[in-house]
Amino acid sequence: MAQNSFPYTYFEGKIVPSEDAKVSVQTHALQYGTGVFGGIRGYYNEAKQNLYVFRLPEHCKRLVNSTKIMQLQIKITPEEIQTIILDLLRKNEAKQNVYLRPFIYTSALQLSPRFHDVKADITVYALKLDDYLDTQNGLTTMVSSWQRFSDNQIPTLSKVSGGYVNSALAKSEAVQNGMDEAIFLDARGFVSEGSAENLFIVRDGVIHTPTIPSSILEGITRRSIIQIAKDLGYQVIERDIARSELYIADELFFSGTGVQVAWVKEVDRRVIGNGTIGPVTKKIQSIFFETVRGEDPKYMNWLTPVY
Ligand code: PMP
Repeated sequence: MAQNSFPYTYFEGKIVPSEDAKVSVQTHALQYGTGVFGGIRGYYNEAKQNLYVFRLPEHCKRLVNSTKIMQLQIKITPEEIQTIILDLLRKNEAKQNVYLRPFIYTSALQLSPRFHDVKADITVYALKLDDYLDTQNGLTTMVSSWQRFSDNQIPTLSKVSGGYVNSALAKSEAVQNGMDEAIFLDARGFVSEGSAENLFIVRDGVIHTPTIPSSILEGITRRSIIQIAKDLGYQVIERDIARSELYIADELFFSGTGVQVAWVKEVDRRVIGNGTIGPVTKKIQSIFFETVRGEDPKYMNWLTPVY
């Protein structure tokens, strides 16, 4: 059990003590990466004494879509997953920032990599988690020597465990080279995304971000950032982005559940803009943090209160 784990976990159809949520080494998904997962955050608002889960219905829908893409053998609706998650948070009496990991995996003790004809199960655990990457000081990045896999190799819109081998290789390469994070190019050589986050650049006041065919995961934070940016009056263009545009961007930032909104100060040792957080990123980041904590009435419908 992780040190920052909450005491209870949803496992094999019920809420159990986290130390009892264990699988066999013979579990199918453990061999083949044949599971799909979600990463969801909840933010505790002290003033309102409530925990708000960010875009819970959207995350649950994406998870069910992931099972559909992969043909995982489980019958579960997004609404049922929402109920499991809210029940679990209440059972844990969670009153701080949380990270939720729902995981639907081939749970049978069987050999042979496949999705059909293997029983799948859902588990959900919760961790106490604040920042995953530094959101304040600027990240150093490198374009990875590993290419982001294409949709017809491993479906990019499914958050499938096996696909994270790609992320792990890129992340380790970046960190071993003294950088904080990696940036993937797609099979055509265009910019895709970070190892576990989407990417935006700002050029002359206009925001640009890669499209779904650039092999990105369709981030729920990305969708939220696009909405926030448009509401602020910025033009947001989803298009192919060339590698060299990264170097001459005025601003560059990542978005994702883990990373939240984090700005990048360096790509391949080229300083982005003047090496400080840019005005567009700063504005979007501040609205994002107010939104997730339930401090911006405009986006309250993105939050599910736990209590
Ligand atoms: N891309 C990848 C590969 C990811 O793992 C994540 C994290 N889920 C994201 C992008 C960002 O997606 P979201 O905003 O939905 O967390």
